[in-house]
Parts: sequence; C-alpha cells; structure tokens
Amino acid sequence: MIRSGMFLLCLVLLAGGCRDAGTPSEVELKTNELAQRYAKLVLAMEHHDPGYVDAYYGPAEWRTEVEESPWLLEDALQEADSLLLLLSRITPDKDELSQLRHTYLNGQIQAVRFRAELLSGKSASFDQESQGLYGATAPRHSAAYYDSVLEELDNLLPGSGTIPDRYRAYQTQFEIPPERLPEVLDSVVADSRNRTGKYLRLPAGETFELEFVTDKPWSGYNWYKGNSISLIQINTDQPSRIDRVLDLACHEGYPGHHVYHSLFESELYSKRGWVEYCVYPLYSPQSLIAEGTANAGIDLVFPSDARSKYEQEVLYPLAGLDPSLAADYLRVQEIRRKLRYARVDAARALLDGAMSEDETIAWLMKYSLYTDSRARQSVAFFRTYRSYIINYSLGQDLVEAWLDRQSGDSPARRWNAFEKLLTSPYTPGGL
Ligand SMILES: [Zn+2]
Repeated sequence: MIRSGMFLLCLVLLAGGCRDAGTPSEVELKTNELAQRYAKLVLAMEHHDPGYVDAYYGPAEWRTEVEESPWLLEDALQEADSLLLLLSRITPDKDELSQLRHTYLNGQIQAVRFRAELLSGKSASFDQESQGLYGATAPRHSAAYYDSVLEELDNLLPGSGTIPDRYRAYQTQFEIPPERLPEVLDSVVADSRNRTGKYLRLPAGETFELEFVTDKPWSGYNWYKGNSISLIQINTDQPSRIDRVLDLACHEGYPGHHVYHSLFESELYSKRGWVEYCVYPLYSPQSLIAEGTANAGIDLVFPSDARSKYEQEVLYPLAGLDPSLAADYLRVQEIRRKLRYARVDAARALLDGAMSEDETIAWLMKYSLYTDSRARQSVAFFRTYRSYIINYSLGQDLVEAWLDRQSGDSPARRWNAFEKLLTSPYTPGGL
C-alpha cells in the first residue's frame, strides 16, 4: 500500500483558498473549516479500516495527529453527526459549484458514518450497503436475461459445446505473450495520453510509474500519490488479453483515475483550497464517480471505430496477434458488455447468502464467461471490497447517461462535459 504525505501548496490552504473570483465568501470559509474536520475524520477511519484511505496528499501532520492518537469508532460517529449538523446550518452560495460542494460533503460524511456503523457491527444487505456507502443501488437481472445474451454469441463463436466453453477457448487467441506486454501497455498509455491531451488540459508535470504485480484480487490499481503522480499497478495473475489491456490503460491512466485525481487535486484542492479533496475515502460516493468516469473514459478516448483501427494497425502487430481477427472480437466484446451486471448479481447473491461460493463461481463462469481462476479472483474481490463492485457498471451507466444528456452526439461537447465531471464535486444523486 502506498502512502504519501506531501505538502501541497499549504500556503494557499492556510490563506483559506484562493477563489478565481476573488476572496472566499463567508460561507466558503465556514465550509473550509468543516472540510478540514471531514478530512481528519476520514484519516482517522484508517486505523479501524486499513485501506479506507485510498489517497492522501494533504498536510503530513494531520495524518500523524490521528496516528498518534487513534480515534474510537464512537468518536468517529459523533464527529460525523456534528459535521452533518453543522453542514445543515450552512446555506451554500448560489453558484452551482458551491451547491454541488454542499451536497458532495453531505454524501461523503453520511458514507463515513455508515462505514463506521458497519465497522461497529451493524448489519446491512448488499443493496443497503451500496446505498449507504455509494448513494446508489444496482439493478438486478435474471438468469433468463443473461441466457438470452449468451444466445446472441452463438453465431459468432467457433467450435461446439456450451457457449461459455466456446468463448473461453476462443479468447485464448487474444492473449498477449507476457514478454510483449510491457511494450503493448506502453503504447496504449502513450496513445491514450496524446488523445486525452487534445481535449483536456492536463496539469504540468503529471506523470506515473507502471508496475507489474501478482496475487491481488483486482486486475489493476491506481495509487495516487499527489502532485499529479500515480503509481499504476497491473496484476498479471490472469493472462492479459488485448481488449483488457486497452481498457486497463485507459481506466487507470488516461483519461481515467490518473487524470481524475490530477484534475481534482489541481483544480479544487490547489487552486480553490478545498481540503476535502486532499483525501479519498475508498468506500464513499466519490468512488462511483471515479470508477464510472474511468470506465466511460475508455469509449471517449477510443470510440468504437477509432478503437478498431488502432487495435488492428498498432496493438495486434505489437502483440504478435493476427489483426484479421480484431473486428469479430470487438463485436463479441460489444455483446459481452451486456453481461456486465452478472458480476454485481453474483456479488449480491454471495454476500446476501443466496448463493454459496461454489454456486457463485459457477454463475461467474457461465454468465461472466470467466475461467475458473478468474472467477475465484472475483470472489476474492467481493469478499474484500463487497458492494464496491457496483461502482464499475452502474457508475459507467450513470456517467454515460449524464454525458449523453449534456452533449448529444458532439464529441467536443462530450469531452467538455467529461472535464466538468473531473473538476466539479458531482455526486451519484446529482447524475
Ligand atoms: Zn478503478
């Protein structure tokens, strides 16, 4: 786990933030004070919930303070209640950003409170938990729905046997030989960064480090270190297929998590002095927006036609794969996307006790088309991160629907709307 304690423009913070529009209003000053208490509350939760603080780049002494004098969970609950009361007495300024900030803080504090209650022994169903932590519940889909999607794959997959078995056999020809993986990944990252840079103003000096790891419940992770620097880890436990590598590079890097964190840090924390943005609590509504934008960003940076061309002309040759297979594979992936909620349904059933672990693995192998080992990795993810799984599919759906409403068919307007999501405190309810 990466931890950092970087001092970032503390002078700006001590001065209460510098608004583009001049000195901070009375309301903004009061909210800043509250935001500082919120940041410390989030930091204090780490003692009871290792991994809760996903990123922190605020003053190092705040972290030291809570490490040297750990809070009890009751203290955290009490502080959350006090902050909610204080916040309810603040009427935000009329501008949209102030209103969004008020709603954002309310949702984030409610989520800390809910997490503290869970850690204190409160029980909650999967849906209650996702509502309490992420401000949303995922839709349910029946086995009959997933069966009908599998039928759509029938004509596209060679061989005989069940559709999941045929899919698993088919996908092996898209695996990148391990020795070629770094080069393929470097190429996608460089290309997605260039494409993103045409539409978004990336902070000066932004950069990242790439690392290959094993034995993790996730396939990739962005550890944001502050100052526009990320450590991106790629898990090589599972074979890396060409489609997954492009998805991962965009999701973790450009225009996904790396850009998300960098823009929030530079626009809200550094420029405005909004200290709630120096800390990122993993189990909070912020994660739905973070995962949703990271997933929606893939299609934004590589729309279907551009992706097909780029994969055939650049990635397949780099990976030593046959480019003539690319178009069909992309079609198969488009249909497979309709199975995205199968993981959520599996996690819900497992955690609510409706399916055993063996049944969950069988479900994932059938409806998510996973291999046995990939299904087991997913179950490990559900056990660790629980209802966090909704943030990927539901987050993406909410973000894409919002982008559709903001921009229609115009790519430039879509990027503008995307940038707005990465520089304003939107909440799941606000989408
Ligand atoms: Zn992610």
